[in-house]
Parts: sequence; C-alpha cells; structure tokens
Amino acid sequence: MRILYDAGQSVTGADDPRLGRIDVVLLTHAHGDHIGDMKMKALEAGTCDSPQLVSAAPSSTTAEVVAAKNAAIIMVAPLANFIGRKVETIRGKPTGACPQSGDDLVAPFAAPCLALVMTGGTRTVKASAASKGVEIATVPAVHDSTVPLLLMMEAARKALEPDNVSFTLGPPIGYVIRFTNGLVAYLTGDTGIHADMQAVAHDFYKANLIELNYGPNALNPEGAAYAVNTLVQPASVIITHVNEGATSGGKVKPTSRTAAFIALVKGRPVYPALSGKTMEFDGAGKCVAGC
Ligand SMILES: [Zn+2]
Repeated sequence: MRILYDAGQSVTGADDPRLGRIDVVLLTHAHGDHIGDMKMKALEAGTCDSPQLVSAAPSSTTAEVVAAKNAAIIMVAPLANFIGRKVETIRGKPTGACPQSGDDLVAPFAAPCLALVMTGGTRTVKASAASKGVEIATVPAVHDSTVPLLLMMEAARKALEPDNVSFTLGPPIGYVIRFTNGLVAYLTGDTGIHADMQAVAHDFYKANLIELNYGPNALNPEGAAYAVNTLVQPASVIITHVNEGATSGGKVKPTSRTAAFIALVKGRPVYPALSGKTMEFDGAGKCVAGC
C-alpha cells in the first residue's frame, strides 16, 4: 500500500519520479503549501530553504497526482469534492466513488475515486491479495482550511475579492493510520496543541509514531515538545513542515528552531524528514532502517 500525505509544493507534479505507484492520496487542509498551488520547477531546483517553484494553478499537485495515479481521495467531504472536480477537469470524465468490497476499499484502483469522510471517519484500504487492510482515520486538528484564491474559478474568486474574505473547505484534520504490522502513525496536519492529541491519538488509537508538523505560526518549541512528551507519548517522532532550512548535509543545524524542539523531547528519538531518505518502522513504532 502506498499512501501520499499532503503532496504540497515539494513535488514536480504527477511526473515526479520519486512518487512511483500511489494508491491513496491524503490531504489535511486546503492551504497552498499542502494542496500544492505551486510545484517544484525541477528536481533539486533551488535550495531547500528557497526552492524554485512554478504555479500549479488552476489544478494543484494533489489533483495532478490523484488523476495520474488512479488514487483514492480520502479527505473530508468539501476538500475531497473540490479535488474530485479538478481531477474530473484533468481527465474529462466524472470522479466516482471508490468501489468497495464489504467495508473495505480494494487497491489498486482502476480510476481515481472519492472516499469521503467527516472528522473522525475511517476508511480501510486493502491490497487486493492481502487478508488485512490499512485503516485510515481522520482526527481533529486546530487550524484553518482556506483555499488559495488562484485555485478557484474566476467567478468565485471575483465574488470574494471586494470584501477580502476567504473560502474554507471544511475543517482541517490530521490522520491516524493503523498499518497491518501494528504501527500506528499519527500525522498531525498543521495544528496547535489541542486536547484530542491525548484523548484521540494517545488514549484511543495508542499512536506509537508521530509525524509532527512544526510550523512557527502554530507551535513553538515548548508546545511541540509538550505535545510529544505529555500528550501523545509515541515511541518515535518524525519532525516535518519545519518552515526553515533546518538541516545541512542531513544533520540538524544546532541554531535551528528544530534543534530547540529536539533538545526538549525526552525519552524518544526525533528524526528529521529528509528528501530522498526512506525510514522503516516496526509495529512498536521503532525505526528499524534508514534512521
Ligand atoms: Zn496550514
């Protein structure tokens, strides 16, 4: 099972050779750096701090990838329908609901398809030959989901401009993915600290891996460390979405905000998300390869 989470602006589009096969595309909210209103001009164009980007409007990297890979769209309904329409425009045919076998979606899919959820909803995706599926649940996040104006059609965009108001595509979310080996990954999405990190991700799902989005407009180092040490208490941490040039030669820079966070995390390893590096985790959330 290959799942793409928030394709964002860090791909060249559907033709990005690093993507390979994609069965499911997840998207936590509509912000441009997640939906992918821009895309990389070419692989390695620019620097990590300042990549060279070009517009992905009026589509988005998310829709491009879904369309090209025949992926399932597992997102909250307003966002899924928005992406589904863009996929429809790319392909020239409607984006239908994902076929199901009982309660399970069965991958690979013959065409891009919709698997809508609401916050808290769950979808199970099974590889056709497998006995067990991967469970993908949406969980709360405290953020926003304003869509970039340039991804809207002109009529809608023009209607919003006079009042300088924005348009929101449902609530922002995170995901919890229960893999068949026992790994339970909590993908926070962009979020501030909230009580459901403990009630939902820790108490209920017992997440043993957190992939934490660490944007400076949502979490300071102390808040991020509190979320990890006290609320979620996973076995391992992947730190991502750091909005800074946090590493040099694959090592975290000691003066970075990322280093300040790592210094506050107790009793568990923190792995920066590095381009081109694949990590493998066992069922207990312990990194066993590529760490
Ligand atoms: Zn955001």
